[in-house]
Amino acid sequence: MSKGKLLIFSAPSGTGKTTIITELMKTFSQLEFSISATTRKPRGNEKNGVEYFFLTKEDFQENIQADEFVEYKNVYENYYGTLKSYVDRSLNEGKNIIFDVDVQGALEIKKAYPDDSVMIFIYPPSIEDLKIRLETRDTDSSETIEKRLKYAQTELDQIDHYDHQVKNEKITDAVDEITKILKNININ
Ligand code: 5GP
Repeated sequence: MSKGKLLIFSAPSGTGKTTIITELMKTFSQLEFSISATTRKPRGNEKNGVEYFFLTKEDFQENIQADEFVEYKNVYENYYGTLKSYVDRSLNEGKNIIFDVDVQGALEIKKAYPDDSVMIFIYPPSIEDLKIRLETRDTDSSETIEKRLKYAQTELDQIDHYDHQVKNEKITDAVDEITKILKNININ
């Protein structure tokens, strides 16, 4: 069995990344969404090892000390991170792991697995277009939208770090383009 790959996706919030990834996962049977570790409590029906690996703060900190994380972050008073043991096991089982991370997380993952990572950036046709999408989505306040747009520009400035840049003007076209990219690197 050949070793799996790390497929790292980033996109400014509102670009349609989640929809695109959901579509790709219908086409490709060997894709698995990365399971992170976290210290936050499970919500609703979340199960250990399915949505997240739920760790105590002490266990998480021990793993940090032992350099067990590819990357980790403190978000809203909780820790979140990607365990090397999880990535290594999945890759050795031939699984291709999908990461949906910000630019910083993407670069850290690539640094840890330079030969096995493929970085894909999905970008909107324009910042103006993104603004309209965020406003139409109607889930964020205008203040949050302003913040997301500013952050989007910061992320767009780093697009050259990515192996592939895909414009999402129309979801089906973006999905087709990424499908071709994945087939070219023998993902099926
Ligand atoms: P939630 O608690 O809603 O599941 O996630 C909260 C935030 O943590 C989200 O923004 C999510 O992207 C981020 N997050 C989840 N897993 C990881 C991870 O492994 N690494 C990093 N850096 N952030 C993560």
